[in-house]
Formats: sequence, C-alpha cells, structure tokens
Amino acid sequence: MNFELITEDHGARRGQLNFARGVVNTPAFMPVGTAGTVKALEVSNVLETGSEILLGNTFHLMLKPGDTIVKKLGGLHRFMQWEKPILTDSGGFQVWSLGKLAKINEEGVHFKSPYDGSKHFLSPETSMEIQNNLGSDIVMIFDECTPYPATFEEAQRSMELSLRWAKRSKQSHGSDAALFGIVQGGMHEDLRKHSLSELMAIGFDGYAIGGLSVGEPKEDMVRILQDLQTHLPPDSPHYLMGVGKPEDIVSAVAFGIDMFDCVLPTRNARNGQLITSFGELNIRNAEHAQSSQPVDESCACKVCQGYSRAYLHHLDKSKEMLYSILSSYHNTFYYQSLMQSMRDSIEQGEFAKFVKDFYNKRQQSLPIYLKHLEK
Ligand SMILES: [Zn+2]
Repeated sequence: MNFELITEDHGARRGQLNFARGVVNTPAFMPVGTAGTVKALEVSNVLETGSEILLGNTFHLMLKPGDTIVKKLGGLHRFMQWEKPILTDSGGFQVWSLGKLAKINEEGVHFKSPYDGSKHFLSPETSMEIQNNLGSDIVMIFDECTPYPATFEEAQRSMELSLRWAKRSKQSHGSDAALFGIVQGGMHEDLRKHSLSELMAIGFDGYAIGGLSVGEPKEDMVRILQDLQTHLPPDSPHYLMGVGKPEDIVSAVAFGIDMFDCVLPTRNARNGQLITSFGELNIRNAEHAQSSQPVDESCACKVCQGYSRAYLHHLDKSKEMLYSILSSYHNTFYYQSLMQSMRDSIEQGEFAKFVKDFYNKRQQSLPIYLKHLEK
C-alpha cells in the first residue's frame, strides 16, 4: 500500500491509498462487513454506493466460519466476492467488549465464544495469523481498548501493554499487507502523544486512533483529536476507529482524519433511522404513512429516485426484508456521498463552505470547535 496526500484545506486532507486491488480515495468511509457481509447488501449494492474499501471482523470470522476455512476457500475477498481492498480489525475491541467472558494477561486474551461457549485465545501473534489467513489488505495491530472512564494510571498501564503488543504484532506480521498501529491512552493527551511517538518509532504504514467513541463526552473526543492533529505523521494515513455519526466524521476530517468505519448506517437503517442531508428521519413515525416524498430529495440513490417514504414505512411496519435492503442501501449511499462531497470541497479549497452548508441544511449552528472555519 502506498499513501499519497494530494491536497489540504483548513486542516482537512484529500488523499489516495493505492493498493494492488484498487485505489481508495480519502477521506474514506469503510462499511463494516462483520460476518463477511455488509448486512442486507449484496456486493453489487455496496459497489453502487461508491464504497472502495470494506472492514472485516477478525473476531467474528475466526469463530464463524473460522479463518482457516476462509483461507481454504481462497481468502475473504474470494469468499464474499469483494475484489476491492479490505481492512481487518484485530479482534482486540470485540474481546474487550466481552467483559467477564475474557481474561487478559501479558500473553494475550483467553475468551469464551459468545456463540457456543468454546474457548479461544487471541494474542498479537494469533491475530496477525488470522488476519493473514483472511487475506486482509490492511492489518491492524492487536491492542487493548482502554476502558472508559479510566484514571491516568489505568490508561497508562493499558497503553503500555498495547505498545508491547504493537512490537509483537510488527515482529510477527508476515505478509505484504499494510500494518497500522493504534494510538491509545484514554482521555489523557500526554499518554496519547507518548503512545503515538512510540508507535512511530516502531514504524507502521498508517496510524489509527482507538479508544474513542466509547461513551465519552464529545468534548473529550474533540480535545484528543485536536491535540493529536499536529503530531500525526503527515505522510501516513490517519484512521479514526468506530466513528460514527455524520457530524463527528465531518469534524474529524477537519482535524486531519482520512479513514472511518462504523456500523451506524446499516444498523440504524434496520432500526428505522434514515440518515439524510437534513438530519435523521425516523421512518416509523406515523407522519410518513401517506407521504409520497422520497426519503431525501437531494439524494441520488435509487431508493430516493423511486420509492416514497410511505412505501418504506409500510415495508418496515410489515417487517418485510426489502425494508432492510432499501434502508441500508440509502444510508450507506448517503455516507459515501458525504465523503465524496468532502473530497470535492477539499480539492476545490471550499471545505469551510462545505462544513457551513452541512450544518445549515441540518438547521444546526456550527459547533464551537469548528468556529475557526467561519472566518
Ligand atoms: Zn437515498
């Protein structure tokens, strides 16, 4: 993988990740294919939304169907019929989310499968092996996601364990795939900066920011991102893991982030929440029962070009499968259009105007941390 920074505007970056499997234009949003599928979407649908890279889950795929089976069947790309690049997470976040089902020590994490109670072990070495078996294009180091809230001492202990695991991940990473480090350190700027500089000393192809969007107030996330912005290496891609809402993605792009992933567009779609240029729309509201309007008039997706809100309301109410398919399609398309608009605006030197328009359409005022874009 090679990263090319094309241009910058007000801190926002327009770049390109070049892989043998294709180009990923940044800022990029990666739909999440948890179990080898972006829920409710066929690969042809995912391509139509403009997605250029997907995220695959180590944790879920190692348990079902098993990474050695995926490898035997030609790797994850072949298995799910997705030919463009795939980033795999390391499984660290999911085992951390298991709580009592997981036991962490220096060596790694012993855990019980939430599916059938079977015993498993993940460590930097096994995570690298599994991600290689899947045939990932971007491998993530195995880290510990620092719990929130955490004291300085707790966050420091966790961050240092992650650094030792980062070294082991690098040593055991045995493929041509890109390897990304993950900055931890809780809500403490000093720990975050230490984590980043140690990771840079080890040397990675990209730098991710983990342990955010874990329940902290938005001000904390913004403070950490603002502080890291000037320290992240400019010639490497910057990836904010697990974020999130459109407004958070827009802010993070303003702080120099290039890559995002989140289950929000597909998960919220299935729960009735459609994401639009004017904010969130709950299709379950009775007001949509007879509406001939599309979900979002300014959306170019095939759902908004053809179907009415009333039809989607009806499909959801009737628990029809097509509801999940159409709503997931629209939401994913919206996210990719948002990324495309941001890329265009950065290229044209109009990112500040884009951000103002984004908030205007949502009838929201510019948050205090983006006020510098008003000038
Ligand atoms: Zn649409």
